[in-house]
Amino acid sequence: MWPTHWAAEVDCINAALSNRQNISSIECCVLIFNSKSPKPKKIKDKKPKGKEPRTWKFQVSAAEAKTLDYSSQIISTNNNAFVILYQKLRLQTQKNNFFNSILLFRGRLGGMFSMLRGLVSSKSLTREDMESILEKMKDHLNWMSQISSQLCDSVAVKLEGKVLGTFSTVSSTVKQALQDSLVQILQPKRRVDILRDVMEAQKQCRPFVITFCGVNGVGKSTNLAKICFWLVENDFSVLVAACDTFRAGAVEQLRTHTRRLSALHPPDQHGGRNMVQLYERGYGKDAAGIALEAINFAREQGLDVVLVDTAGRMQDNGPLMGALAKLIAVNMPDLVLFVGEALVGNEAVDQLVKFNKSLADHSQLQKPRLIDGIVLTKFDTIDDKVGAAVSMTYITGQPIVFVGTGQTYHDLRNLNARAIVHALMKA
Ligand code: GDP
Repeated sequence: MWPTHWAAEVDCINAALSNRQNISSIECCVLIFNSKSPKPKKIKDKKPKGKEPRTWKFQVSAAEAKTLDYSSQIISTNNNAFVILYQKLRLQTQKNNFFNSILLFRGRLGGMFSMLRGLVSSKSLTREDMESILEKMKDHLNWMSQISSQLCDSVAVKLEGKVLGTFSTVSSTVKQALQDSLVQILQPKRRVDILRDVMEAQKQCRPFVITFCGVNGVGKSTNLAKICFWLVENDFSVLVAACDTFRAGAVEQLRTHTRRLSALHPPDQHGGRNMVQLYERGYGKDAAGIALEAINFAREQGLDVVLVDTAGRMQDNGPLMGALAKLIAVNMPDLVLFVGEALVGNEAVDQLVKFNKSLADHSQLQKPRLIDGIVLTKFDTIDDKVGAAVSMTYITGQPIVFVGTGQTYHDLRNLNARAIVHALMKA
């Protein structure tokens, strides 16, 4: 496989290899590279016997062209030299690090390895190094105005003085750190595990109570119904408490949902148990009182979960926020879920912050009950506004428990932090 003029070098290496088990790859390379580079054989001009006819108009015959072409010979020689070098290196460095050997030998291979050397760095990062990429990232995440600066600053502090890894660039290091921080924000330490908590409540012979709150039209009732469906699919019986006694049609909307859900999971599929029921007392009544009655009813009936729908209210509406704080204080639900739509981006963040503040302001309790988790709806309708998810969890520290991704009962997901961060970084 190598040209005959390499036979001597190859023999020499083979002999060395068979005599000395520990011949190093470097020595092997030196053997090859120290051996004289083959020179293309000179084609001796044979003196023509007698007089040859002259060739005019630069015409060269095929046979003459072949003898005059040295290029293929030289190229194949060099290729074979490299093949031998590579094979011998691999052979001798099974135990050693092949790559290290190559790097040690880079001086010899000059240009080719200087490229590798350029990528290997041991530089400590300074704030100045990161300034331009951090500015770019701040601009990129500018719609998360409240947090993008803080986030970038914390990444800079974290990375300052860090030694750049092999093959890393400042830009890739900063981006990776930012990406990790975003994922960390979206995965708060406190996880809400509803199924586990419902089972705990079952052991205590009481229903697990979830209250839903948020402004009008964000998808409270629809996503309450989706969560109901998910619970029933997990074989838990549910009582829906119609505590939106304010908006016309709110009770009927829930009635329709409970009928449909009951039809999807009829009692005969669940050992005769009625899996979904509605607790309704019409309009204009005290919502906190209806919720309390519903919870007591569920306890008596041995139902597993109570889902409390509440009237939509603007975060600035004092009296209505007071009524919600009362409902929560009186009933002490296990979970208070804030329903916000991803569609409105930062507006949803504002709603959530003000809901929390109002609940704290209007609570009579020493330690007010605030929002425990978030349901982010209409996720299917957004493209670049996924940042609302990050802002909401960053600002409140509360997890996104569910993501609504459509209008059917199946369109409910857990938050995929990595997918959101991926979308954020490329948006
Ligand atoms: P509520 O006033 O907060 O109870 O809101 P509704 O539950 O009545 O929902 C308002 C509208 O939003 C309805 O048309 C729902 O079908 C729609 N909706 C709710 N959740 C989602 C979702 O995740 N994706 C989409 N595309 N639409 C949704």
